[in-house]
Parts: sequence; structure tokens; C-alpha cells
Amino acid sequence: MTEVIHVSVDADGIATLLFDRRDSNMNVMDMKFMDEIEAAIERLAGDDAIKGAIFTSGKPVFAAGADLKQIEASLNSSQNSADRDTPVAERLARNASLSRVLRRMETCGKPVACAINGTALGGGTEIALACHYRVAADARGIRLGLPEVQVGLLPGGGGTQRVPRLIGIQAAMPVLMEGQALSAEKALKMGLIHRIVPAADLIAEAKRWLIEEGDPVQPWDKKGYKLPGGAGPSSPAVAQMLVVSNAMLQAKTFHNLPAPKAILSCLYEGPQLPMDKALEVEAKYFTLLQLDPVSRNMIRTLFINKGKADKLMHRPAGIARTTFRRIGVVGAGLMGAGIAFHCARLGIETVLIDRDRQAADKGKGYAAKRLERDIAKGRTSRDEADVILARIHPTTDYAGLAEVELVVEAVFEDRALKAGITRKLEAVLPAHAVIASNTSALPISELAEAGARPQNFIGMHFFSPVERMPLVEIILGRRTSPETLARALDLAQAMKKTPIVVNDGPGFFTSRFIGAYINESLVMVTEGVNPALIENAAKMAGIPVGPLTVSDEIGLDTAWHASQQRKRDEGDAFVPTPTFRLVEKLAGELGRHGRKNGKGFFAYAEDGSKKLWPGLAELFPPLAEQPTVDEVRTRMLYAQLVDAARAMADGVLLDPADGDVGSILGVGFPAYLGGPFSMMDTIGIAEVVAECDRLAARHGAQFAAPQLLRDMAAEGLSFHGARRVTPPAAVR
Ligand code: NAD
Repeated sequence: MTEVIHVSVDADGIATLLFDRRDSNMNVMDMKFMDEIEAAIERLAGDDAIKGAIFTSGKPVFAAGADLKQIEASLNSSQNSADRDTPVAERLARNASLSRVLRRMETCGKPVACAINGTALGGGTEIALACHYRVAADARGIRLGLPEVQVGLLPGGGGTQRVPRLIGIQAAMPVLMEGQALSAEKALKMGLIHRIVPAADLIAEAKRWLIEEGDPVQPWDKKGYKLPGGAGPSSPAVAQMLVVSNAMLQAKTFHNLPAPKAILSCLYEGPQLPMDKALEVEAKYFTLLQLDPVSRNMIRTLFINKGKADKLMHRPAGIARTTFRRIGVVGAGLMGAGIAFHCARLGIETVLIDRDRQAADKGKGYAAKRLERDIAKGRTSRDEADVILARIHPTTDYAGLAEVELVVEAVFEDRALKAGITRKLEAVLPAHAVIASNTSALPISELAEAGARPQNFIGMHFFSPVERMPLVEIILGRRTSPETLARALDLAQAMKKTPIVVNDGPGFFTSRFIGAYINESLVMVTEGVNPALIENAAKMAGIPVGPLTVSDEIGLDTAWHASQQRKRDEGDAFVPTPTFRLVEKLAGELGRHGRKNGKGFFAYAEDGSKKLWPGLAELFPPLAEQPTVDEVRTRMLYAQLVDAARAMADGVLLDPADGDVGSILGVGFPAYLGGPFSMMDTIGIAEVVAECDRLAARHGAQFAAPQLLRDMAAEGLSFHGARRVTPPAAVR
């Protein structure tokens, strides 16, 4: 009795290998899958009554790739020394098991046709590529692709070898090195699949091919096979292209990402070899990547922990789901307009309120403008755009909110203004409705107290531009109820955002975390570190936007207003810091507000180009001896590590997973590091503490390691894995 791959043979001798797990509603690929597919292929090879086979899936998603639970278990064990000590030969054999089975399938002497009835990513696409014929259903939304590179790996089931042999080395590059998900049409055009037919004809077409054509030998196993265009890695054009691609890759990734580099090596070495040898090369590079902490950290954060967040790991149990047909948004500015547009595209109506009709209409205008662009690019039809636009209802009248279950408040960052809005909202909303403030930094618990129902109040911190940024940071006020949290999470999910949940505290998590990076960078400016060195060190660390660029984008005036507010709040206790003085000088005295008025750390020209403002060197004379890139990078990253550890120690973070996911998806922490907690685990907590001590002695108390880190180092604990620390927030 099989549980994963079910074989049936029809009267014509055509076997169907049906991938349909009985133990799961997703076709995941684990050891059980491997055993059963191997048995099925042996039967196919050995049974003379079978002429050929159709490989297809019994689930809507053709195959869901590797099994999450198995990966998580192996991640945890790869942190213990027993697994690290696994002999290389054994590891290689284990990693090559899918590759070996698929190779056996394509050389077993019987033709196999793949009937792709649903999305096949990763291992699913690799199965298809190993079949002799590939036909996909014309169902909308079917995707094919090899996204392994996005978690620091390469497709280890033959993908790096079959793709270039099918479509050529150059065309294979974006497929493998960027991990693009391709529509069936695109895959057909590129030559990765043979045909697209109506879903109802899928199996018949696979069978037709087996009976009428049925060639059991892959092109690359035929005598005289040449890569498409005859262009092997050593032909002058391809060799030159590989050299240039490698240089471009390193210019873009600064040697931080081992996976695309390994894929490039597979593309260079593999196609010079016969397939069996080429697959060995692939397995070797796969194993190197697997042993690298980059893949472990990316898998943990971007696959496992992001997956848990998407499944709402912090959603309290036993509370009915809320389905949102209509929400309210107050404040139709940059954020409010973005939220309304994003919701409208997902079928959720928005009552969009501003202080006057013109401002509300302007918010809707944002959606109209974006939709025009989509129409021009052929992404949307006029009719579709009209339907989307009709879901946004601009108004000044709060009466339209009488039946909504949640309102996002996105007015100016002003406590008194927000308090007034809360009271106005409570007057019209149903008693259980949630008010979610999109504030970037004002304390949620205080904002909640402005109204009579603080239990219904929560923070939902979206990022700009809302329609593109994948994260929402949900902030619990002191009195936020479990029902309110559940509703906010349900909306996040309906908006297809990844939610992290944090406790209230200055700057929540993401704002304080990016603040630590910017602050340390500005401290360096005041010390006379070359601003270009600072910007470039950030880029070399893999941070997408340099700290001075970010400061100019956010606006130095915004930072100045915030610091003036802090000065007023703290009264006599206020001690001006070097960055306070810097911002006061630039924004307060010199009127350099950033990109918005064409002058900040950079000077902006009419044509949009910019260069660092030379006046900085007069204000902060350059150090005679500049620090190394490494020291600058270390200061930026450690400022964030310490801050993340403090956010954990202070109970702001409920779980290290939230910090890791939030840092990458929200504020551009380098993905290859897996987030601050994964990074600290990789370095080793004791080593992190030692480095903090060194940095604190040289550069100041911002690097003082919190007691939590010292205790963890003493007890040999980490943030993830088998010996993980219990987050202080969970103890309270
Ligand atoms: P914005 O200035 O673009 O928009 C604010 C809107 O609020 C304006 O349209 C304004 O007319 C409206 N408004 C002001 N008073 C009002 C009132 N009494 N009634 C109704 N509407 C009123 O600001 P924004 O960038 O969209 O920011 C909104 C909120 O989101 C702020 O709290 C901000 O801190 C937060 N936030 C901003 C960003 C960002 O990148 N801009 C990111 C995350 C969070």
C-alpha cells in the first residue's frame, strides 16, 4: 500500500505515477517520497508490460518542494556537532538522493511524460525537467521555477544541469541565479516545457505523446548532443559572458552570497561534462552551500519563520476568524492611500477619510495613477481597473464607518491629533471594532488611553510603499485584547502581508532597529569618518540603502522634529548626543532637510542626480587616519545586534523569529545574515559579547552588551536551535 506515489497501469501499458500524499494536503517531498518514487521507477524499468509513464499530481499544487518539518529538524541538528561531523561522502550521497532517483528515471529506458496540473516549484520543477516530455495545463496561475537561490541553496535535483542543456547557459542564468517563478507561457516560450493544453486534455496529451512519439532518451544523452546554439562554456562568446557575469554578480553582491556564485560554477563546469559527472559537480556545490551558515540562516528566517508568521503563529486560539469586506482608513496621505489601493486590489473596500474632500480624493487619485500605469503596461484591463477603483470610497463623513470592523488611522504623526481621531472613531464604530494606528513610533499604550476602549486599540505599522513592502509590524498596547490581536492578524493575512507581533516600547522593534544603524552611522560622520566610506561600507555589508541616503529620504527635518520633541519630553534630563547636534546643525540651522528640499547629506541636482555635500567635510573635518571598511561595517551591524538583543531583553520582542523576519522584510537587514538573532547564533554568543566589549571600550556605551547576552554566553544558550533561550517576554 503506497502513501505518496500511486502507480496504476492502463490497458495500453501506460503507467500513471500519481503524486498524491495521503498523509498531507500538500505534496511535500521527504524521505518517504524518495522511497516510493524510487520503487515506482524500478517497477517502470523492470515491468515489460509497461510501455511508458505519466507523472502527475493529485493535488492542486503539483508539488510543494521539500518538507518544512524535515528541514527544520535538520537545521536544529546541523547546529549540533554530531551532524556537522557527518562524513563528506555520506553527506554527498544523502544530498544527491533526489538527483540520483531522477537520473534513474530519465535513463530507465521507458519514456516518461510529465503532466503539470498545478504550480511546481523547486523539487517539483526538477521532477518535470527529468521527464522526457512536459505538458502543462492552461490553468491560470500555474508557476514553474527553481527558487532555491533565494534561501542560499541551488537546485540539487539536476536543475542546474538540465536547465542550461534545455535553453542554453545564458538563458539559464536568471532562472537559476534569481530563482524567478515563471508562468507556464513563459516556460513554454523559453523552451523549458513542450506544450500547454486545456486542463481537461492534460492527461490525454501526455498519453498521446507517449504512444505517438515516446522517445525515452533525453537530448543530452544522445550522441552528438550540443548545448542550444552549440555554445558550450568554452566557446568564446559564452566564456566571455561567464567572466562578465561573475564580475557583475560580485559587484552586486560583494561576495556575500555564495549561492549564485556556486550556481555560476555549476553552469561553467557542468555543461563540459557528461550528465552523470555533471550531476556530481552539482551535488558537490550543493553540499558546500548546505554547510555554509548563509543557507541555514536564510532557510530558517525566510522560509521556516516567515512561513510561521504567515500562518499567524501569534494568533490567540479559540477566536473566530474575521473576514474583511470593508475597512476604514483615516488619513489619505502617503500611507493611507497606499493601504486603500493595496486593499482594493485584493477585493477589500475602503472608506477613505481625510479632513477635507479634496485630500480624500487625492488619496484615491494615488490608486487611479497606479492603475493607469498597470493598464499602460498591460498588467490590468480598463474594466478590471474600474472595478478596483470603485472599491475606494473617499469621504469626510465618519458615518460610513458604522459597520466596519477595523479602521487604520494614518494621519500626521501627532499625539493630540491621533487622540482626537480615536474619540471620533469610537463615537461611530461598532463596540467591538478595532482601531489600528499606523504610527511609526508613538507609544501605542498611550494612544490607546485617549479613547474609552483601549482593549480594541492596536498598532499596525505598515511600510512604504504599502503595496510593495511585505511586512506589517503589529504592536500590542498594554491593554490590547486577544480578540483585537486576532482581528489585526486576520487583516494582515487578508492583505497578504507577513505580520510580526511585538510589545509596545520606544520605536517598537523595526524603527529602533533601523535607528540604531542610522545613529551609529551619523556618529561616525561626526567623528570625521569619510561619508563615502560609510555609504559604501553599508552597501558592502549587503544593506540595500546606505544610512545617509536613508536619512535624506526620511527627511532630516523629521529627525530634527523628533529630537526636539524628545528634548521637551526629557526636560532637564536631556543630554544632547553627537547625532542630536548633527541633525540640529544640518536641519535646524542650515535648512538641509534631505531629498525633499534638494539638500541633505547629499546635494541634489535638477536632473535627480546627487552627490555627497562637500560642506560636511568642513563641519566634521576628516580623520587623518580613516578606519577600515571592516571596522565601519562592524560598527553598523553590531549597533543593530546590540539593539536587537536589548529589544529581546526589554520584552519588546516576543520571539527571536519576529526580530529576524522583521529586520529583513521591514528595514533591509542583509538577508544572507538571516536577521540579527541568526547572525549572533552564527558568530557565537560569547564571541558577540567579547566584540561588544571591544567596541564599547573604543566607541561608546551604545555597544554595551545587555545582561541577557552575558547570561546566555555563560550558559551556552543561543537564540534558535535546541538550546535556545526563553524570550524574557514569554516569562512575564
Ligand atoms: P502624510 O502626511 O502623507 O499623510 C497624512 C494624512 O493625514 C494627510 O492626507 C492629512 O491630510 C491627513 N490628516 C491630517 N489631519 C487629519 C484629520 N484631522 N482627519 C483626517 N485626516 C487628517 O503622512 P504619512 O506618511 O502617510 O504618515 C501617516 C502615519 O503613518 C504617520 O503616523 C506616520 O508616522 C506613519 N508612517 C509613515 C511611514 C512613511 O514611510 N511615510 C511609514 C510607516 C508609518
